[in-house]
Amino acid sequence: MESVNNAVEQGRIAAHTLLDREPPPRGVPWFWSNQGALKIQIAGVSDGHDRYVVRRHGADRLTVLYYRDGLLIAGDTVNDPREHMAVKRALAQRYTIDPKVAQDTSAPLRSLVGPLVTTS
Ligand SMILES: Cc1cc2nc3c(=O)[nH]c(=O)nc-3n(C[C@H](O)[C@H](O)[C@H](O)COP(=O)(O)OP(=O)(O)OC[C@H]3O[C@@H](n4cnc5c(N)ncnc54)[C@H](O)[C@@H]3O)c2cc1C
Repeated sequence: MESVNNAVEQGRIAAHTLLDREPPPRGVPWFWSNQGALKIQIAGVSDGHDRYVVRRHGADRLTVLYYRDGLLIAGDTVNDPREHMAVKRALAQRYTIDPKVAQDTSAPLRSLVGPLVTTS
C-alpha cells in the first residue's frame, strides 16, 4: 500500500525485526490527501465491499462507509476528521456501524459505533 502511514509501519516492523523483537501489531491502514480545499481521509480498505452508505453533511462534507457481509470495512471522509477518527476507532476495535442507522446524519458517527449485533 503506497501511503505515508504504511511506510512508517514498515519502518517500525523492519526495526523490530533487525533487533529480533516481536513486531508491533498492524494498525488500521489510513491515508489522507489534500485536494485544494478538500481534505480526503480514508480508513480501512474498501476493496471487495458489497454495500456502501453515504452520509452527506453539506456541499463539501461527506462520509462514505463501506461494508462486506454486513461488517464495516472502510470509510472515506471529505472535510470531516471527526468521522474519520470514528471509523478508524471502530475498525481498530473490530466494531461496526449499523448501515441502517448510519444514514441518520443527526447522530454523531462515534455514537453509532458498536459491536455487531446478530438477531436470530
Ligand atoms: C505524487 C505523490 C503523492 C502522494 N500523496 C500521498 C498522500 O497524499 N498521502 C499518503 O499517505 N501518501 C502519499 N503518497 C505516497 C507516499 O509519499 C509514499 O508512500 C511514502 O513517501 C513512501 O515512504 P518511503 O519512506 O518508503 O519512501 P520515500 O518517501 O520515497 O523516501 C525514500 C527516501 O530515500 C531517498 N533515497 C533513495 N535512494 C537513496 C540512496 N541510494 N541513498 C540515500 N537516499 C536515498 C530518497 O531521496 C527519499 O528521500 C504520494 C506519493 C506521490 C509520488
